[in-house]
Amino acid sequence: MDVKERPLKLYFIPYLAAGHMIPLCDIAQFFASRGHHVTIITTPSNAEILHQSKNFRVHTFDFPSEEVGLPDGVENLSAVTDLEKSYRIYIAATTLLREPIESFVERDPPDCIVADFLYCWVEDLAKKLRIPWLVFNGFSLFSICAMESVKKHRIGDGPFVIPDFPDHVTIKSTPPKDMREFLEPLLTAALKSNGFIINNFAELDGEEYLRHYEKTTGHKAWHLGPASLVRRTEMEKAERGQKSVVSTHECLSWLDSKRVNSVVYVSFGSLCYFPDKQLYEIACGMEASGYEFIWVVPEKKGKEEESEEEKEKWLPKGFEERKKGMIIKGWAPQVVILEHPAVGAFLTHCGWNSTVEAVSAGVPMITWPVHSDQFYNEKLITQVRGIGVEVGAEEWNLSAYFQTQKLLPRDRIEMAVRTLMDVSDQALQIRRQAQNFSRIARQAVQVAGSSYNNLTALIHYVKRFRDSAEG
Ligand code: UDP
Repeated sequence: MDVKERPLKLYFIPYLAAGHMIPLCDIAQFFASRGHHVTIITTPSNAEILHQSKNFRVHTFDFPSEEVGLPDGVENLSAVTDLEKSYRIYIAATTLLREPIESFVERDPPDCIVADFLYCWVEDLAKKLRIPWLVFNGFSLFSICAMESVKKHRIGDGPFVIPDFPDHVTIKSTPPKDMREFLEPLLTAALKSNGFIINNFAELDGEEYLRHYEKTTGHKAWHLGPASLVRRTEMEKAERGQKSVVSTHECLSWLDSKRVNSVVYVSFGSLCYFPDKQLYEIACGMEASGYEFIWVVPEKKGKEEESEEEKEKWLPKGFEERKKGMIIKGWAPQVVILEHPAVGAFLTHCGWNSTVEAVSAGVPMITWPVHSDQFYNEKLITQVRGIGVEVGAEEWNLSAYFQTQKLLPRDRIEMAVRTLMDVSDQALQIRRQAQNFSRIARQAVQVAGSSYNNLTALIHYVKRFRDSAEG
């Protein structure tokens, strides 16, 4: 075989959180589907929930449960419900797993490592092995650009315009200091890598942001997504991240009985724990809007052990009996739901995966950011690309678990839902634009599409590295 044709050997090290792991493993699948040898490095419980594929190998290391004081099998952020335990997962992943992963990689080095940006130590390893190192953090490039701008410029308290930015974008309140202190050094460390891998297609972030990023940082970014589009069959789409608590069949037959664009899908990702009072406002707002819905709530809600009294703290009396929608208590087959023609809007926390999955499905969004990159994603959705409306959340939370925010009242929720679901010129324009981006997203991953071509270019880039090292 011509040396240039020889497949690459790539190691992927995803962070132990659904929002990082699902897209990075789907991106690994893009490489594998081009015939490259992909190994995903993770822990046993995470390996179990990975998309089963014969295309790649999975290498596991025991999760240091005892050292961090977590029960056996709790190895992912989605399996914990508070900040303190999420920190233990973080320490296990970023510190305690370092040594075993490093010795494995050194014993049998790949041509390239693709690692979550939380694993900063990969820099030294890649340098030692003289191989390229690519980083992934699950953010859009738009949000990375916003964070880079905020990092470079002093911003005061209160509303601010993102400094030195291609669009005039106003953010209504300042990001928390703790969040900046955590994320900014990671973004700086990532600049030393050979480039960012982005789960998006270039057209949604926009060429202007790619140019802006490369010009202001001198760092490269490869748009390879939408990652979720690597999944073709209904089963592949349903089994992402965790086993769903409802059958796909049940969701689809419920949706099949509804009119096109008549249902609102409500979900706040894999890590969002609103207080009961906020859930109550959501229930009232959705009911008042008059639209049917699928609403995903945390698993513990509505379990048998929950008394009527406890239930009434987050659900109005008789809510379930009135059957205005379907409540899914736990993990939902999100991509399958979003792709159903009955779904007309997505009330979302603007997690980047959820956003890009909605865009791929052509579903306009009602945006309710909670923390991290979500406030920037919201602006890309609403102000810059015109594919959603804002519910009016302004206060950043430090994390998904630590919610200090003021309640968003039911009438704001009802109004945002109506703005998108009632017939109006504005709603029609937003829906058309969402469908337009869906078409572009699907083309992007087809042969000769923008993400397809970026993947080809990236493969050549890594091959040039390998081939010049081999002389
Ligand atoms: N997800 C899912 N079912 C659920 C909740 C989440 O399939 O019930 C998936 C969702 O499709 C997305 C990921 O989990 O791929 C969540 O990532 P996102 O960036 O949207 O939010 P995060 O959970 O990181 O806040």
